[in-house]
Amino acid sequence: MQSITNMHPLSEIKNLSTADNQAVVRVRGRVFSKKDCGRVLFLILRDGIDTLQAVLVKNKETTQLSIEDYNLLRKNENESFIELLGQVYCTEKPVLACSQQSIELAITGYKVLSRSVLDLPITLKEAAFTDDKKNESHLFSSVHYVKRLDNRVLDLRTDIAQAIFRINDGILFHIQHYLRGYGFIEIKTPKLIGGASEGGADVFKVDYFGKPACLAQSPQLYKQMAIIGDFKRVFEVGPVFRAENSDTNRHLTEFIGVDLEMVIDQSYMEVVHLVYQLLVDLFDALNIKYNREVDIIQSFFDVPALTFSPELVVVTFADAVALLKAHGQDREDLTDFSTEEEKQLGIIVKEKYHTDLYVITGYPSSVRPFYTMVDTRDGRYTHSYDFMLRGAEILSGAQRIDDYNMLCKRVAALGIEPNSIAHYLNAFKYGAPPHAGVGMGLERILKYFLGLPDVRYGNLFPRDPKRLHP
Ligand code: ATP
Repeated sequence: MQSITNMHPLSEIKNLSTADNQAVVRVRGRVFSKKDCGRVLFLILRDGIDTLQAVLVKNKETTQLSIEDYNLLRKNENESFIELLGQVYCTEKPVLACSQQSIELAITGYKVLSRSVLDLPITLKEAAFTDDKKNESHLFSSVHYVKRLDNRVLDLRTDIAQAIFRINDGILFHIQHYLRGYGFIEIKTPKLIGGASEGGADVFKVDYFGKPACLAQSPQLYKQMAIIGDFKRVFEVGPVFRAENSDTNRHLTEFIGVDLEMVIDQSYMEVVHLVYQLLVDLFDALNIKYNREVDIIQSFFDVPALTFSPELVVVTFADAVALLKAHGQDREDLTDFSTEEEKQLGIIVKEKYHTDLYVITGYPSSVRPFYTMVDTRDGRYTHSYDFMLRGAEILSGAQRIDDYNMLCKRVAALGIEPNSIAHYLNAFKYGAPPHAGVGMGLERILKYFLGLPDVRYGNLFPRDPKRLHP
């Protein structure tokens, strides 16, 4: 096998261009495909979402590669990780199969760094087609997402997974940068806690040296305690655990929560405005910076582009109920929206306000957690809000009760055992500023921003009631 020296600096496929014509470069990647035309080998080298066609002519004096070298490269299994040395040249016709369409590489040397097995559980080619497209032609095949997730390491190499996790990184970067710009500091709260973090049945119990403990269902109580500790604006990005035994396309048992909490001046609407602006800014930034990745995903899943209004669009809970009733729903005034109702509301609001992003405020007190501030003018409702995107909830928030006695009354009224949250309750004895916040699921933002069919696509190694591996 022809070895190559390191005298040429390593280049990345994505950084090559026609400006490199005639340059000798060293590039690494995976063997995506090979076509042997007898005397010429065409090999597509893939690095992430970038591909380059490399060409080796058998027995050409300039390459110094023997027929044996030619055959060894030809026989290399797809997905092997290799390094190529070669001269870049501009092509006469665009190479339609590659992202680098105007250049190719004339191979002069190569090194196989790590070979793949021949029998791959999923091939990257078949994973590149959706179920819908499978039916269009017998040539197209597809991979069900369960099989993708069972073989996640290979699946992560696909264009869609590569695109999703670059955008995921973009979301994290933008949110953290944006919030710091508005005076928030990032905190990390414990995930192992004594007692249930928010109460309820959806909690994973663990044995903590013989004492009962659980995995945090949210950072809710701790981020509020940080506010009472006089950090005026805090946010956290961290794992959230929910023992919800439901197999839906929106729920995971472990997801990444993006939470924020802040002291307010006059009204909880200060948080609503800040978070709405954060999301509008985020979506604009993603559409610009990751336009290639967004295009890959939207064409793969055939999703319409997202429409959102730069101006805040708010519908009160009561008005949303009235809208549903006007559209034929026979429902109670104070019950929470079902998934179907949220979808229907999304369609109604889009028709009326031409936006996929809007906010519902003033949820009934009966459907919100004990720490939510009840509306003093009408105790049936609360100072709360949910943000909806493409007809589904992506985040939930509220003003919190900041008075110790009021909080204790709510706890008693809802039948919560005060001892289980004594540290939280006691914190309010020392005075708490008025505050409000939100909790959002990172995978939900990805799912609904991109229009993914399932929230699992947006988590690197998802956990659901049936999946604890890989
Ligand atoms: P839902 O009604 O959709 O189940 P929830 O009301 O239980 O959500 P919250 O407890 O308010 O949700 O959590 C805040 C946010 O966290 C939600 O808006 C959503 O973005 C995200 N989230 C909640 N549960 C899950 C889950 N099981 N998997 C993924 N994300 C979740």
